[in-house]
Amino acid sequence: MTIYRAGPISTGGIALSTCDTCGAREETTFHALVECTYARRFWIRLRELTGVKLPNLNPTSWASAILDNRICGVNDQTINLCRMWSVWRSRNDHRHGKAPIDMAASIDWALDVYFHLNAAREKTDGK
Ligand SMILES: [Zn+2]
Repeated sequence: MTIYRAGPISTGGIALSTCDTCGAREETTFHALVECTYARRFWIRLRELTGVKLPNLNPTSWASAILDNRICGVNDQTINLCRMWSVWRSRNDHRHGKAPIDMAASIDWALDVYFHLNAAREKTDGK
């Protein structure tokens, strides 16, 4: 049985490698999802479309912060998680030699998943 160990929280996780997108020396999960130039462009564009702002995050607490109801509401949590998944997928496609999903298509996908998840939650909540 393999037991996964997370990288040091103080640095944003395990340094995966050098970032292919921006050249950062240590590409942590936090870097790929929040700090990288691609991620930042993605966040800005999606904010323009949805009005949902990514809360101020740091490498030591980003994961708990995006799930904290006191920091962002449930709808914002959902869209932020969809965004992160989409950024991560684009990062992996780029890293593994696939044609990266263009940003507009990636944003469309994140929004589509967000609306489906929201509709499912409202149905479950009886709204
Ligand atoms: Zn980068």
